[in-house]
Amino acid sequence: MSLSKGICILGSTGTIGVNTLDVISRHINDFTVIALTANTDVEKLKEQCLKYRPLFAVMVDEDKAQLLQQALVKASSETQVLSGKESLEFVASHDAVDYVMAAIVGAAGLLPNLAAARAGKRVMLANKESLVMSGKLFMDAITENNAELLPIDSEHNAIFQAMPMPVNGIQEKHGVTKILLTGSGGPFRKRSLDSLDDITPEQAIAHPNWVMGQKISVDSATMMNKGLEVIEACWLFDVSLDQVQVVIHPQSTIHSMVSYNDGSVLAQLGNPDMRTPIAYALAYPERIDSGVAQLDLFDVARLDFERPNFERYRCLQLAFDAHRIGGYASIALNAANEVAVASFLDRKIKFTDIPLIIENALEQAPSGTPDKIADILAQDLSSRDCANSYIKAN
Ligand code: NAD
Ligand code: MG
Repeated sequence: MSLSKGICILGSTGTIGVNTLDVISRHINDFTVIALTANTDVEKLKEQCLKYRPLFAVMVDEDKAQLLQQALVKASSETQVLSGKESLEFVASHDAVDYVMAAIVGAAGLLPNLAAARAGKRVMLANKESLVMSGKLFMDAITENNAELLPIDSEHNAIFQAMPMPVNGIQEKHGVTKILLTGSGGPFRKRSLDSLDDITPEQAIAHPNWVMGQKISVDSATMMNKGLEVIEACWLFDVSLDQVQVVIHPQSTIHSMVSYNDGSVLAQLGNPDMRTPIAYALAYPERIDSGVAQLDLFDVARLDFERPNFERYRCLQLAFDAHRIGGYASIALNAANEVAVASFLDRKIKFTDIPLIIENALEQAPSGTPDKIADILAQDLSSRDCANSYIKAN
């Protein structure tokens, strides 16, 4: 590759953030780490700052930022420590930054991701929640500001590889008939439906194939993750819900497929390791070593496919419903899910309460589509309140 690219990693201490730094460390002359950000993890961000020497480190929590500042001064680091949510937007749109890895979990990623889009950066999108919330508004911000949008979610990255299209706009989809979005089905694919009530957080976060943050691991167990990904695919690839088919594929070897009108189905395969899509987005349109082992087809031996059972995966159905309604419903879906998952991880509700909380929030959401970020954020807050009230009352 040519000139070193300036990188900002939003959420550098998370699973995606750490994997991104791992890929970057294999190509240290091609990338310059400009900014790393975290919410509260002082130890990990300090360690990353000492190793990658970014210009800025953002610790959203003010008190933790002070601790980080003291630790870095003591270690003679020259990294400037910033705090507060606004600093995320500052670094995401900084002139020295070319590429932004959007890897904050949940709605908290929306404003910094938008700031990156508005500043015309290459946005490498892992934070699917922000796209589910903002939809067209986010896609327009990419196009209008000549930014680039590259999907990091393994499925969308696979689709992107199987369906070449410009990264800063939507083009005719040359004969595409369907997107086949694969998902493993999570750890409870075969568990009896009447025992889903007893699932513990430890069981839910133990994903069979992928190592991920806690929230997305629970989302994978309920298949809300696939639901959010269906909505994400509709926005990224400008397709309708009827053109997206969810396919349960327990081996997680095929990361998704695209069907064409001549009968072709193109798939992207690989070991389940996020460094592959991360490396693809970092090097696009070239390819670089990601550190991921080559796929051994004889080890994989077989590939299985099943239709999803919507009774088992009620959250998946709710996501389809929300996107069909559109607008405020998708914001309510995401917000209520975030509250429900956090409460489940805190052992305040049962695993099977998650869809009930979301369904209630969907019923309370207004109809229509917001056309301003302020309205999106207001609905996010109001659906969180709604979910919290439901949890208190039940
Ligand atoms: P994680 O929980 O491991 O990390 C989350 C990161 O976000 C951390 O750096 C944390 O400090 C930061 N963060 C959390 N709350 C924040 C807040 N309020 N303000 C600012 N920063 C905050 O999560 P992850 O598994 O790395 O996932 C990150 C995103 O990527 C999610 O949207 C997830 O859906 C998506 N994603 C993850 C994977 C995966 O394999 N882990 C795959 C596909 C997509
Ligand atoms: Mg995914």
